[in-house]
Amino acid sequence: MRLCPRCGAKTRIDGTLSGDVAKELCDECGYFRGLLAPGWAMGKRVEEARTPSPFTVIDGGGR
Ligand SMILES: [Zn+2]
Repeated sequence: MRLCPRCGAKTRIDGTLSGDVAKELCDECGYFRGLLAPGWAMGKRVEEARTPSPFTVIDGGGR
């Protein structure tokens, strides 16, 4: 369980086709980001993070 860094609401995690990638979504304000396992980050386009995160933040739209 994580909280939205923007509005503090609970976010939900959506799995994707890859087990190494998930999307974190906030239904309240529309915030979302991709969560990527560290190994996956290599060679991928890394999007600017809105807030610091322990996760690698990617564009969630591509997968
Ligand atoms: Zn939010």
